[in-house]
Amino acid sequence: MNSSRLAIAMDIGGTNLRFALINESAVILKKGATLTSDHEGKDAIIQRIIDSARLVLEWAEAQPVAMGLALASPVDPDTGIMHMPPNILSLQGYSPIHDLKTNLGMPVVAANDATLAALAEHRYGLKKSVDNLVYLTLSTGVGGGQIINGEIYNGSRGFAAEWGHLTLDLDGPQCNCGSNGCFETFCSGPSIVRITHELLKETGADSTLRQGDLEKLTPLNIAQAAREGDQFSLTVWNKIGRYLGIALSVILNTLDPEIIIIGGGVSSALDLMLESVKREINVRALFPYVDKIPIRSAQLGDEAGLIGAATLAFDNVT
Ligand SMILES: [Zn+2]
Repeated sequence: MNSSRLAIAMDIGGTNLRFALINESAVILKKGATLTSDHEGKDAIIQRIIDSARLVLEWAEAQPVAMGLALASPVDPDTGIMHMPPNILSLQGYSPIHDLKTNLGMPVVAANDATLAALAEHRYGLKKSVDNLVYLTLSTGVGGGQIINGEIYNGSRGFAAEWGHLTLDLDGPQCNCGSNGCFETFCSGPSIVRITHELLKETGADSTLRQGDLEKLTPLNIAQAAREGDQFSLTVWNKIGRYLGIALSVILNTLDPEIIIIGGGVSSALDLMLESVKREINVRALFPYVDKIPIRSAQLGDEAGLIGAATLAFDNVT
């Protein structure tokens, strides 16, 4: 592998725009970040994307061979057009590829951020090589990506692996996608906080959580309370783990991947959910996994999107 080749990688989300100079051994040589907000409007966001890419170009001692973009949106695999990006709706129908190509004079490729995280975890996060892998990110929303027969699989229009919108409850809470009762409405960070508030109210249970400011509750607080033995918080994670286990059972029964990798901020509480996840999988998945449930925590943290974007860029230049 020629580690002297360089790529520009960018991860464009609803609140952060992160960028990096990465070599072909997936080493991040230098990185930076800036805030983005949908309120800025399309033109300002696009200008910020171009300015950030130019900054990375200035860092590079040799000309990067290509640029890869990880986008928080379903992405058309041929054109890079974003379809209904839930947190950056002003970019609906926009592909950054043309503007960046024109400004940088190099090949530019783009894909969904969770798909690229799947690519990065597949290539660099595992100790052994696998052909089929699913990546789920439990974060502000629930995103997904998949590697099938060693290749990223986007579907025909870029809408594959949107597991976050799997219906888990016919009469469940409203989801940002327009449907209701989606997996995302139970296992995203904000959903976990909502469920905790509902349970505190409904049950009137004693909990150390009540000693803090309930308005500022985060999944991290709930995980910490559970680790310190708060019975109520343990019950919350058991409940969230049940939803996660049901969704994972559907993925196992449809794709039969060798491994499912869980990333995103909420994945730091995976150990607290594992018992109920296992219970659901053992009941609902057809393959008899028993104690060999193929679920792992992500290894590359929040850099997976950037590394995946660079990997896609290198894979697309010869
Ligand atoms: Zn949904």
